[in-house]
Formats: sequence, C-alpha cells, structure tokens
Amino acid sequence: MEMGEEYANPRNLASGSLTLKNIDAVKSRHIRWIPFTLVHTDEDIVTWGKQMAFLEHLGFKTVEHEQIIHPTQESIDKVIQEWTVKLNTFDYPVDGLVISYDDTIYATSGSVTGHHATRGGYAFKWQDESAATELEYIEWSCAASTISPVAVFKPVNLEGTTVKRASLCNISECERLGIGDKGTKIEVIKANKIIPKVINVTETIGKLAIPCTCPVCKAATEVMESESSATKTLHCINPNCPAKQLKKFARFVSKEGVNIDGLSEQTVQKFINLGWITEYADLFHLDKYANELRTMEGFGSKSVSNLLKSIDKARTVEAKRFLYALFIPLVGQDVCTRLLSTYSLLELISTAQTTTDLTIFSTISGIGPEKSASFVRWMQDEKNRNIVENLLSELEITEVLPIEKGSLCEGKTFVVTGDVRHYKNRNELKAYIESQGGKVTGSVSKSTNYLINNDINSTSSKNQKARELGIDIISEEDFINKFTNK
Ligand SMILES: [Zn+2]
Repeated sequence: MEMGEEYANPRNLASGSLTLKNIDAVKSRHIRWIPFTLVHTDEDIVTWGKQMAFLEHLGFKTVEHEQIIHPTQESIDKVIQEWTVKLNTFDYPVDGLVISYDDTIYATSGSVTGHHATRGGYAFKWQDESAATELEYIEWSCAASTISPVAVFKPVNLEGTTVKRASLCNISECERLGIGDKGTKIEVIKANKIIPKVINVTETIGKLAIPCTCPVCKAATEVMESESSATKTLHCINPNCPAKQLKKFARFVSKEGVNIDGLSEQTVQKFINLGWITEYADLFHLDKYANELRTMEGFGSKSVSNLLKSIDKARTVEAKRFLYALFIPLVGQDVCTRLLSTYSLLELISTAQTTTDLTIFSTISGIGPEKSASFVRWMQDEKNRNIVENLLSELEITEVLPIEKGSLCEGKTFVVTGDVRHYKNRNELKAYIESQGGKVTGSVSKSTNYLINNDINSTSSKNQKARELGIDIISEEDFINKFTNK
C-alpha cells in the first residue's frame, strides 16, 4: 500500500493482487484464503460440518461457523443475535450470514430461488446503516475518458468511520436520485460496509449544475448517451486533455520507466485534476506545491519529503528506461533495447527527428518497418519534440554502452544455470555469449560445450547430466578468464 491509503474495495484488491507477477509483492499483501465450500472429494462427505472439519484437518482455516442441533425458530433467532454482536469484533467487514442444513443430501432436495441460490440454505445480509445529511457540492473528477460526479456532503458517521464523499457514477444516476444543488437532503450508506453511496434524496434543493468546461483542461464538455443502456455520461472533448494522459503518466513514473518510487496512479490522478501536471517535465517541479501537498489527505510531511526525494532520484535515468517511459506506440522495452544497441540516445533522437526515411531503423534486427515508422513519426511530431526537449533539460541520461561484437565464444554452446554474480543476471551473460558468436541453450546435451554454474559441485540434474556426458562445468569466474578480455 502506498502512502498508507486504504484500499476502497478489498475484493478488487485481493483479485488484483493475485494477478501480480511478482510473488514477493503478492506475499507482502498477506492475503488469506478462507474456504466455505468443498466442491468435490473422491469419497462423499455428506454433512457440511464434516466437510469443513476435513478441510481444517488439511490445515485450512475455514469460514467461521457453528452448528445448531434441533433448531427452532427461537434458537435460530438467538444464534443470529449472537453472531450479530460477535461479528462486530472482527477486524474485517462481514456482510451477511448463511443458514443451511448440515445434511448435504437432504439439502439438495430443497428448492432454489433466484437470489439465494443455495438449495436448502438461506443467505441474508444485515441492513446497511444509513445516515441523513446535506449536499455541500458536486466535485467533477476527470479520469481517463469521463468526467464523473462525486457528492461532497456534511460529514456523517457510518459504521465507525467518518464519511463525506460518495461517487454518483454518472449523470443518469444523479437524475434518477434527484440530486440538486447545495443543501439537497440525502441519505447515505456504506455499500458492502465499505463503499459510501447515496441511496436516496429526501429533498431536492436547486438544480444539478453540469459543468460546461473540463475541470482539468478547461475545454468544452459534452454529454453523451450510451446506446445500449441509455446512460448519460460527461466527457471532455479535448483529445489532448491531460486527464486522458493518466495511463501515459502511469507508465512514465513506473519502475520500468523513470521509476518515481511511491507515486501511485491515484496520486498522479490527483495532481492531474489539480492541474499541477500537464506534461512529464512538470513532475520534476512538484516541489513548488510542497506546502499544499503536506495538507492533502493521505500525505504527511514525511511522505511528501520521501516523494520529493524519489523525484530527485529519478532525474538520473538509463537511456532505455527514458525511451520506454515516453509511451511511443509500438515501442516497448524490447524495441528500446534494440534501438539503443545501435545508437546512443541523443543520436537516436536526432536521427529520428531529421530523417526522411520512415523505415530507417528497420535495418536493426527485430525492428520491422512499422515499428520504425511509428518511432520516427512520434519523434517528428512538434508537440513530442517539446516534450522530449523539456524532459532532457530536467534529466541526466546514463547510457549503457552497446556490447561490442566479437568472436570469443565462436562455435561454442553454453548452458547457464544457478545464480550469477558478475553479470547482472543470466540474460546479460547470455547476451554477452551471443555477441561473441556463441550459443546458449536451455538443457545439457551432447552438443553442449560448457555448463556454467557457480556451484560446481551441485547435484542438480543439469550438473549430473554434464558429468555423465563429460562436459566441462565451469564457474562464472572461469568463464570470464577464458572467454572475455578481462
Ligand atoms: Zn479536459
């Protein structure tokens, strides 16, 4: 979590976390999985309680539950009462209870209703606690392509926290509810105990004012109505509206880009809405707003000074990451690496800006005419020239010198396994071998000449195979002595 902000929606947080590629990042989020249904076992377990006991025996922590023996209306009511009190002591929100028969065979003989789609069971939710309050104003916030209304109201206490804003989604929703101007009396809840929501308007005061200009770029707005659902949404007509640039900014500041640590997409969005950043170079002048930042929700002196430090640190950036950060169509990390294997960054930029040959870079292996043309067109665009120029005046670019081609590994086939120390990673070692005319394969075979493994005495299958076939096992140091000029 960045800057100590709470995530708005735990379900999205959990599912989003599971799609992360970095296992350690997933681990650091401490997600727990709590099973509540056993789908299949080879031998049927015919009561729900025993199914849970079976899962617990396997080491899972199952959903909280209790069994009511010979239930009566009174004993069920009593149990619901007890759980209602007990659940308030949990450190996570709980939105309902399920009551079902324990005997799973008997339960399947029950009927199914649409909403409570469990045979022989009944799921219900507690009524959301609601609060009455008064609208202060509507904040129009501009995200990727729409300008969405957010109700800002007199603070109320709901389920233990203070709530003062709630998204109104779109214009149709405002109309459905009857949202007016300041003073409109509204009723709010926390949907699923988490997301503040306006559920009712008890008295409309004045009329909803839909802004005619974009809150970010001041261009004109237009109301659009979707054909499928007849939902009215507000849009900024300016294709270059900085709010639409959110994705670009997100890539720019990402780890693979210039890497401004601690600057989340939500924060970037805030800065865009405030008009603090309209082009990349503006990120390097956020210190102008340090005082305002310190008073913003979610920021303290410490996080502001950390952010400004990260920004300063990002002023020194590798050429490849700089190029990737620019978000040039068809120019991903691989293309950046290939372009910079032939040109220095400044050569590359000036070549692209002055050439009349759109396919000039397609002579580089792995770069086709389309990618070359996309790169040249982007670099020749007047607006992009300024973006690059402004950035270059803020940044210090470090170049990784292209590896000089040679023939030190000519005709040899290598397999690399285990950790490397001298080279940054196995890919860098592989790139070196290939630049010297050698080959790198994934598994040891008769055609392998050397297995590179720093743990020469390892009992790994690759090492065993190499020993069987009489192939030399060498350490990284041996490799450097034999196959480099060092
Ligand atoms: Zn705009």
